[in-house]
Amino acid sequence: SSKNSGKNRVAVFTDDMHADAMRRLELTADLRRALDDGGLLLEYQPIVDISDDRVVGAEALARWPHPVYGRIPPPEFIELAEESGLILPLGEWVLDTACAQMKEWMDTGQANSSQHVSVNVSALQMADPGMHDMVRDTLVRTGLDPRQLQLEITESVLVERPEAMAEELAALIALGVRVAIDDFGTGHSVLAYLRQLPVDVLKVDKAFIDAIDLDDGQAQLAQGIINLAHALDITVVAEGIETKGQAVVLRSMGPVLGQGFLYSRPASVALAGDLLRDGVGILPEDDAQSFFPH
Ligand code: C2E
Ligand code: MG
Ligand code: MG
Ligand code: MG
Repeated sequence: SSKNSGKNRVAVFTDDMHADAMRRLELTADLRRALDDGGLLLEYQPIVDISDDRVVGAEALARWPHPVYGRIPPPEFIELAEESGLILPLGEWVLDTACAQMKEWMDTGQANSSQHVSVNVSALQMADPGMHDMVRDTLVRTGLDPRQLQLEITESVLVERPEAMAEELAALIALGVRVAIDDFGTGHSVLAYLRQLPVDVLKVDKAFIDAIDLDDGQAQLAQGIINLAHALDITVVAEGIETKGQAVVLRSMGPVLGQGFLYSRPASVALAGDLLRDGVGILPEDDAQSFFPH
């Protein structure tokens, strides 16, 4: 605190750094154990067609309920996994679990063949030369139709090495899976490369969606992104839709998919299976008619 002398502050700071390093080491060991012992799980957040609330797919999101500290935020444990090399086995576990789950939803009739499961892929996985073999093996092992798998790759990863990434994406797409650019608009823009990158889906980051119904400039920017994506035959998913006002504006912007707390929070396996089968049911009949009069 400000009462401490400069010397004490330095000492405290060093202790904090030490404590932080120790906590990270401890957490990394715990994460390795969780990965080995079934201590991780996935939740699934519906992705909807915002014109009619049909659930077109679900994004798998990793969860780590730590026995002492409770739920660790995914960005925190994903970073630990990236720093420790655990991200490759963790990413493989996520992919395997999500594909097997989607196959099970197909087998039980909860999901249909037009629906997909979407899986986040980290930068280090994309740099791994074994990546597309691992994806192919996982599809074969789980029996999931490749067309029902979507891989999400963060924009910044694609911008750093666009040529290598274009090759890796082409190899993945050759397997029949779909590729999405995640968190679009947060990194250095991938816009310059968009035409060269074989991607199917653009997930526009929540930051672009937040003020879409309040700020005309934001709305025009979103409309511009949607038009550009559609001109390149790329599907748009709006991330982080929280209010009906946002959904109403997005619905007027053309065919767009959406994801966000308005429709559903990330859900347990049991709930997500029901949502895939039944839809999210947010949109009242009247609203639907006023936007699509037919
Ligand atoms: P992401 O891939 O962009 O995932 C969407 C995040 O936004 C999720 O956070 C989700 O819970 C949150 N979200 C969805 N709708 C809303 C909304 O309406 N409002 C708000 N405020 N948030 C919303 P989550 O689950 O905490 O994950 C954060 C990030 O961690 C993910 O961002 C992704 O980058 C990473 N992550 C999660 N699971 C995995 C994984 O299995 N592998 C990898 N590599 N990364 C993962
Ligand atoms: Mg994602
Ligand atoms: Mg995202
Ligand atoms: Mg995001």
